[in-house]
Amino acid sequence: MSGSTRPLRLAVIGAGAGGIAAAIGLRDIGIRDVTIFEKAHDVGGTWRDNTYPGLACDVPSHLYRFSFAPNPDWSRRYSPGGEIQAYMKKVAAEFDVTPLVRFDNEVTAARWDGGAWRIQTTKGDQGSFDAVISAVGVLHHPVYPDIPGLADFSGTAFHSARWDHRVDLAGKRVGIIGTGSTAVQILPAIVEDVAKVSLFQRTAQWILPEPNPPIREERKAAFRAEPALMAEQYERLAETFNGAFCAALVGDNPQWYDEMQTACQANLDTVGDGDLKARLTPHYRLGCKRLIVSDRFYPAIQSPNAELVTDTIVGIEPGGVRTADGRLHELDVLVLATGFDPHHPMGRTQVSGDGGQTLDEAWADGNVTYRAVGVPGFPNWFMLGGPYSPIGNFSFLMTLERQLSYVLQLLGMLRAGEARRIAPGRDATSAYYEAIKAKAGASIWASGCKSWYIDKLGNVASYPWGYDVFEREMSRPVLADFEIT
Ligand code: NAP
Repeated sequence: MSGSTRPLRLAVIGAGAGGIAAAIGLRDIGIRDVTIFEKAHDVGGTWRDNTYPGLACDVPSHLYRFSFAPNPDWSRRYSPGGEIQAYMKKVAAEFDVTPLVRFDNEVTAARWDGGAWRIQTTKGDQGSFDAVISAVGVLHHPVYPDIPGLADFSGTAFHSARWDHRVDLAGKRVGIIGTGSTAVQILPAIVEDVAKVSLFQRTAQWILPEPNPPIREERKAAFRAEPALMAEQYERLAETFNGAFCAALVGDNPQWYDEMQTACQANLDTVGDGDLKARLTPHYRLGCKRLIVSDRFYPAIQSPNAELVTDTIVGIEPGGVRTADGRLHELDVLVLATGFDPHHPMGRTQVSGDGGQTLDEAWADGNVTYRAVGVPGFPNWFMLGGPYSPIGNFSFLMTLERQLSYVLQLLGMLRAGEARRIAPGRDATSAYYEAIKAKAGASIWASGCKSWYIDKLGNVASYPWGYDVFEREMSRPVLADFEIT
């Protein structure tokens, strides 16, 4: 079936990595009428929101980049967050994405009216769009702990993703709640400046001691002069990351898994004090929670002015945090490194599809998606980083680009006049969802720990197969799985 090319009006939600890539990809296939709605004042998503001391990405920089914008200038193996945000801004500017963004426009409602999506934002009605790409990201709704008395704290308290840079930590007594990737990066970055830092740990973590060396100037110059070298570097890193690390997590590379276990145990063994080491020892399988990468955390927690607190928090009082042993940990600043809720990606945005059914209703019994990119009953609605994306294994930018190229193939059909409405079929979606849920439910992420991969129904909402399978699955849509009219 083919028809005449028709101009399409596209809405993209979010100007983070996904939104930036989407706008560029849409232009590449000839879709130029694109509006990006962004709730905040700048592009960059997670890299705009997170500005805490010590922030870096746990994916090597030369792997954490857009394929169409390799960057010879990364300063370190794992570059700092500010540098990644500068990269996002630069790409958005150089590829003329920034002018497409309507900043400070949070989408409050998206409604399918039978032929198009009607978008409302905090600034009012934005009109109709033929299709929507939701690129809202995964880790952008901060979780605040439900601890009695939090509001009564007389010092300054803030979530790690809302860092209050007006507070000078020098000489202060600082508490950090949480021991995820975020807390593990913050503690070493501040320990030398503060009077005391108390780390409130509910669950110990496995920590891989990856060094983070600077990239030498000669190497950067070589990358600049010969981009093929950068491509080789990318391939090497991708091979290690996907073929070893990610494969180990999904059970495809037991030897590498054992090596990671040995490395993490050896790292833990560097903790001299037996009691501290025992308290830092996880009691679940490595990889069940997202593996943490740091060669600075164990030295930092052994600093004379650092304390690991493992007694349960019973409340927060004006003067500090009270633990179950009755002790009050007196604090001036309290950092809530308590993570994010990835299972309600649209937050308070009301999305309604066929017959007015909302996404919340469609997802009442689990975030059912077709290959993480579509939802039955929500025509011409496509997601990047949607539920059941590979959040536990691959580089997120790699994931985004694979999902985007898949979505662009479907949008290409709309543009070519071959379809006006595309949505995944219910049977194909149910079959896919049941298969992915079953596999994820038997994965290492379900092996007996609590983590942000697990949704409120107890499902592990992450992609449980290896990268080769993902690449194959996402290479080309199986059109028989879609309802196309
Ligand atoms: P997280 O991994 O979800 O960790 C949250 C921490 O807060 C956990 O230790 C949790 O304890 C604790 N917590 C939550 N509520 C609590 C409460 N009421 N009382 C006591 N403790 C509480 O969050 P995150 O560290 O922000 O990291 C989230 C993800 O962001 C990472 O897994 C990673 O994907 C990404 N990230 C990446 C980097 C990087 O690239 N290096 C850096 C930061 C974040 P339990 O473990 O007991 O639940």
